[in-house]
Amino acid sequence: MFAVVVTVISMVSAVSMNYLIFPAAFLGRTVPGTMIIVTLVSIPTCLFVGAKVRENVRLSEELRRLVERDRLTDVATRDFFFSQMAQEPDAYGMSLMVDIDFFKRVNDTYGHLTGDKVISHVAAVLQDEVRPKDIVCRFGGEEFVIFLADADHGAGAVMAERLRAAVANSPIDDAGTTLSVTVSIGGSLKQATDHIETAIQRADDALYRAKNGGRNQVHMSSIGNPRSAPVAKYA
Ligand code: GH3
Ligand code: MG
Ligand code: MG
Repeated sequence: MFAVVVTVISMVSAVSMNYLIFPAAFLGRTVPGTMIIVTLVSIPTCLFVGAKVRENVRLSEELRRLVERDRLTDVATRDFFFSQMAQEPDAYGMSLMVDIDFFKRVNDTYGHLTGDKVISHVAAVLQDEVRPKDIVCRFGGEEFVIFLADADHGAGAVMAERLRAAVANSPIDDAGTTLSVTVSIGGSLKQATDHIETAIQRADDALYRAKNGGRNQVHMSSIGNPRSAPVAKYA
């Protein structure tokens, strides 16, 4: 299409130039010659340029995907998560820090490739459970950060518990072997005035308590929610 449009425009322009430059007596010879030259030059040039443009579009889409989506899990990268949150610094919602329990054992027992499969599986379960407006991000190796947009303390706690149960109840089939993992979750409400880093730090503190409490459980930070008990525990 690109080649046809450019060729037609070039042809009309070149033939018009003929009418401006040459006397009428010469047009019978110059116009066909011009048309042949334009066709021979324009079509290969357009095909070459078109292929280059298409390749550049493909590469820039791939680059954007690499920056925005984690390669192993296809959830948001940490950089993309922070760039999204920076666009809405006043966002209100629940920040969750999710960490796979005893993951080192999975690697040690089944190998790193199975470990990778487990990380992808957990990411897919988390992504399936959240709403379209929420963001799931792979924060590090076997850790995820989730922002539940507009969720208050109560709703965030319920959703966190749903995520925990969903992972615990989704066994993974690895070449005939079935294995299950659990996650511990720490949550902290991000008020509009909070920085996301502050909310994540509080969620991380709550995660630490969930790990110490025996894992496979959700702990919520009481900061930002003065009416709640200091630690709400779901197990
Ligand atoms: P805890 O319950 O306290 O979280 O224990 P854990 O074993 O999950 O935590 P630990 O931090 O000791 O181990 C995390 C392991 O995750 C160590 C690291 O080798 C592994 N890991 C990190 N990134 C990847 C990855 O991309 N693929 C695989 N297969 N393993 C990874
Ligand atoms: Mg872990
Ligand atoms: Mg960890």
